[in-house]
Amino acid sequence: MPDMTQSTTNGDRPALHGRMRSDTSPNTSGTGRPHVVVIGAGFAGLDVAKELTGTECDVTLVDRNNYHKFQPLLYEVAMAGLEPDDIAHNVRHIFQDSENVTFRLGTVSGIDADAQLVQVRGSDPIPYDYLVMAAGAVSNDFGIPGVKEHGFPLKNVPDAVNLRNHVLRQFERYDRNPGGAEMGALNFVIVGGGPTGVEMAGALVELFDTLNEDFQAFDTRKVGRCILLEMQEDLLPPYRSSLQKYTRNVLERRGVEVQTGAVVDRVSERDVMLKDGTRIPTQTLIWAAGVQASPVANYVQSEQARDGRLVVNDDLSVADHPNVFAVGDMAAMRVENGDGFHPQLAQVAMQSGRHAAKQILNRIRERETGRFSYTDLGQMATIGRNAAVAELPGGIAFKGFFAWVLWVFIHIAKIVGFRNRLSAFVNWGYNYFTYSRSARLILDIVPIDDDIPLEVEEVDQKIREQLKEVSA
Ligand SMILES: Cc1cc2nc3c(=O)[nH]c(=O)nc-3n(C[C@H](O)[C@H](O)[C@H](O)COP(=O)(O)OP(=O)(O)OC[C@H]3O[C@@H](n4cnc5c(N)ncnc54)[C@H](O)[C@@H]3O)c2cc1C
Repeated sequence: MPDMTQSTTNGDRPALHGRMRSDTSPNTSGTGRPHVVVIGAGFAGLDVAKELTGTECDVTLVDRNNYHKFQPLLYEVAMAGLEPDDIAHNVRHIFQDSENVTFRLGTVSGIDADAQLVQVRGSDPIPYDYLVMAAGAVSNDFGIPGVKEHGFPLKNVPDAVNLRNHVLRQFERYDRNPGGAEMGALNFVIVGGGPTGVEMAGALVELFDTLNEDFQAFDTRKVGRCILLEMQEDLLPPYRSSLQKYTRNVLERRGVEVQTGAVVDRVSERDVMLKDGTRIPTQTLIWAAGVQASPVANYVQSEQARDGRLVVNDDLSVADHPNVFAVGDMAAMRVENGDGFHPQLAQVAMQSGRHAAKQILNRIRERETGRFSYTDLGQMATIGRNAAVAELPGGIAFKGFFAWVLWVFIHIAKIVGFRNRLSAFVNWGYNYFTYSRSARLILDIVPIDDDIPLEVEEVDQKIREQLKEVSA
């Protein structure tokens, strides 16, 4: 994987930039109060807006979706464990009691830092006194041929629903035409042995078990193959070796074919080719190998890391733009007393969002801004039923059932909205006691022609093209 810690500048990009405006520029909200625009209602943007609620500024939160999504559980939607609305929450509802926070649904298409305007597709530009860029990340195919066209990314709720549709449809196709097995119809290849890939693989083999109750004609556990590819020598690269080994053992015991040191060379609609010449026939490539900053990062002229993240100052403001802050997955925040940047994690996003909000208040109050300091709360990954790994600060590490229970409760606690928490809890509880993955509906966004033969991938392709248009 390319080195993401090096930085470049985007000087050759046609970004909108120029004169620096004063920190204490006059208000643009028309209320006599400073106006803060926040791009993105993810973990980072949401925490910016929450921190500024009830303060002396007006906030406009812009997102292209009208909901906040809990990305760490997207794989549960994709693998039929949870419903999409268990992990997504309406943004207007979150701020319905906040008098100074307004939501605007729209896709940001440019930033004029000179004029201090955010351009939103199809509507008037929004003027700002302070801007927080929190548009997150997008999937990174590292330029590998075929991944963009044939891979299934997992960044958004529609991605998860689309993947669920596809996986379930592959079994339905096999039921109609078992001849598809040789073409890899039920070979599911997951690329990326980080937490997302591991969680996905664990859940997929559980889905095979559930589907076995549904299909009488064949044993889904025998015909379904889950192949997890990781280019490094171990799964979960940031975890300690004992937890990596445990993870691999559990996955393999449950039927996942783990291949480490496996580097993807190219992908087609029929197969995945590895650099060592191995060919894996498949119609399903799940891409969990990496992310890069949202293209929104290119809209200001400033230094960027290799993965496109904006390299920010210690107080999280963007170089040469003191009234613009970047937070979460789209910001490259230097590790204190260390090399490289903080990882793209939910905790980093939330803490950086809160910090940026506090620095905006410092600027408004004509105080000095302060350095961002990240408090590491540890990391966790689940491998499936009763199995997880956890590393906590202070060198505490544990695995197995207790780690899994902790994982479940922490994730339920972190989901936004009481109804969502309750619903996720009930669904998980039901699935746990019934050994089921209950959200097994194919909810297509284009009608399926029942006569489509197994080898024709037009429906998937059409859906993917539509999704790419939506997320472009
Ligand atoms: C599948 C998956 C699993 C993960 N698992 C974990 C985990 O277990 N633990 C963990 O700590 N982290 C995990 N992460 C990472 C974590 O989710 C991210 O670090 C976190 O979501 C970053 O928050 P953010 O606010 O920066 O970006 P996001 O949460 O991505 O939010 C960005 C927001 O910006 C909006 N947006 C983007 N472009 C535009 C535009 N042009 N106009 C308007 N709005 C726009 C998006 O709609 C989105 O709402 C996972 C990520 C993924 C994808």
